Amino acid sequence: MADGSANIKEIILKGIPASHGIAIGAAYIFIKDNPIVEERTVGEADILSEIDRLNRAIEKSSKELNKILVFAQEKIGEAKAKILEAQMMVLEDQVLMNSIRKRIHSEKKNVEFIVSDEIGKYCALMLKAQDEYMHERAHDMEDLKNRIIRNLRQERLVSRLEGSVIIVAHTLTPVDTMILSRNHVLGYATDRGGITSHAALFSRALKIPAIVGLGDVSRQIISGDTLILDGYSGTLIVRPTEIHIEEFKKKQERMHKFEKELEPLKDLPAETKDGHRIELSANIELIDELDYVVVQGSQGVGLYRTESLLIDRDDFPSEEEQYIEYKKFAERIYPHRVIMRTFDVGGDKISAAVAEESNPFLGWRGIRVGLDRPELLMDQIRAMLRASTKKNIAIMFPMIATLAEVRKAKEYIRKAKAELRAQGVKFHDKIPIGVMIEVPSAALVVSQIAAEVDFISVGSNDLTQYLLAVDRGNTLVSKLYREFDPSVIITLKHIINGGHRQGVWVGICGEMAGHPLAVPLLVGLGMNELSVVPAILPEVKKIIRSLNYSDAREMATKALTLSTSDEIEKLALKFFRKHFPDIPMSDD
Ligand code: PEP
Ligand code: MG
Repeated sequence: MADGSANIKEIILKGIPASHGIAIGAAYIFIKDNPIVEERTVGEADILSEIDRLNRAIEKSSKELNKILVFAQEKIGEAKAKILEAQMMVLEDQVLMNSIRKRIHSEKKNVEFIVSDEIGKYCALMLKAQDEYMHERAHDMEDLKNRIIRNLRQERLVSRLEGSVIIVAHTLTPVDTMILSRNHVLGYATDRGGITSHAALFSRALKIPAIVGLGDVSRQIISGDTLILDGYSGTLIVRPTEIHIEEFKKKQERMHKFEKELEPLKDLPAETKDGHRIELSANIELIDELDYVVVQGSQGVGLYRTESLLIDRDDFPSEEEQYIEYKKFAERIYPHRVIMRTFDVGGDKISAAVAEESNPFLGWRGIRVGLDRPELLMDQIRAMLRASTKKNIAIMFPMIATLAEVRKAKEYIRKAKAELRAQGVKFHDKIPIGVMIEVPSAALVVSQIAAEVDFISVGSNDLTQYLLAVDRGNTLVSKLYREFDPSVIITLKHIINGGHRQGVWVGICGEMAGHPLAVPLLVGLGMNELSVVPAILPEVKKIIRSLNYSDAREMATKALTLSTSDEIEKLALKFFRKHFPDIPMSDD
């Protein structure tokens, strides 16, 4: 072992795979310089020089950020680099900076203290919010605060690293990810962060393997420890045995070869060997991911989670703001289509509730919020309709529990259309309308619902949690969260039959659609569309193109007779090994 730590035991950790690839190398613990700031009183005579110091630190920070921005634009493109502009905007926010200047005058305190306190207040507020995205933004603000303080102290930024390393950190901001990538970074591993964090998005754009959400990994590792980082399965092995190093080197080669093989599939349809066509599309949270989706060979976007527009703000975007965003989206994905889901707030996502809910997953969530606040729903529907002139937008409602909700939601579409018509505004009159089936009550009456919509998309993440009564985010019960449970598979079949009976197509946009083992089963059950995270799309296409629809149907019929999730998973695994011996399973 490279670090001579052969006597220390190997540790295997599981996190969230954020960017594909395998890295093997030495760890570098990246500790954010969290400056200790003293509170000092300054004399009247020194106030002007304190303000002068602040102005110079702001100027220096602005220059640094500009440099990073230019570097990011070159490396990952303008659209993605935009994320970094948020810090610039805070730096240029005159209200904030003037309030810092005023406080130096009135409180007669040193500038480091006032900067730390004033910006720190915003960070604390953001950290209080329930959603992960706000937490990410709080870290960005903190990053900016530390940058200003470092420049006030005229300290130099340490960003040069020796050799090739795997960066291990508590959290990484987009700026950190960008600056560190100027070195030879093999991978990123962080305690915090989700798959949709901007740092994760950047590592995907930079093609650097990454795992996020590893718990307290940064405290279990020291710089120099050998690591294996598997960005396919989210496995991080600390101080691995020689056997593991060899095994992962082989996997690295295997996956590399496999990914090369997938490239030519990009422009081919997702069609089985016996000619059964599946619509294969991508799930998107941010418009920035669009380029990547196209590169991955997607036929469109099966789920655009519009909630991302609510991030970083405490109000809802106006109709006009939304229109601009949706129009841009539709134009960029054209000629493919995008299914835009109305805001799915509540649950573990951005909360719309005024008071805290004791059981948010069963609370004010998704369409329930829209129907109680029709002015918000109308703004969003009108914006989507106005953006639909290229006829490649479909509207989808989340968290539908009853047919009555579908009818009410559709009534708002009719109303919005009538208003736009009266104003002479153009839109796609036959815009497809669909619903997510993710609440068991809706699944049971799916046939009646299907009779009144154009398509159905199964939200298997929620459907599984509500069917099995297992909170999808609660690690205490995560072993009970089983997508292969017979109750889930039988419900999927019921939904597909119900949809088809009414002549509407049925898709699935939960994580299950991108699970390699589940793909043949879903196709065999009769799913018409699979919408998956972009990173997995080429692999799913390969599986579909290697599959015989008749074999998949036979397997699905058998699965419906089995009585435990273990049995169904075993059947799916056996099928996979038998029919696709050449496809490496990325989460092996
Ligand atoms: C789902 O529930 O499966 C789904 C796709 O929606 P979300 O994960 O956004 O709740
Ligand atoms: Mg859902």
